[in-house]
Amino acid sequence: MPRRRVQKVAIQNMRDNGCRGILIYCLCGHSAEMNADRWSDETTFTDISRELRCTKCGRAEPDVRPDWRPLVRNGRPLR
Ligand SMILES: [Zn+2]
Repeated sequence: MPRRRVQKVAIQNMRDNGCRGILIYCLCGHSAEMNADRWSDETTFTDISRELRCTKCGRAEPDVRPDWRPLVRNGRPLR
């Protein structure tokens, strides 16, 4: 029986793809962007979410996603 692995997306995966920023979305509609350099490679998006709190409504554990936008600007990957 195959062991079920929980797929955790770590910061390292994002960095390997040339992405250094994250986008944070709160249920209240507030969003923010942050540089992810302060977190180690092993940090997962879930870990980051637990550290953050919405500056607008104070809600904990917002949605955290990699910010790919700088990499696809003008439709071309930037290197
Ligand atoms: Zn909020």
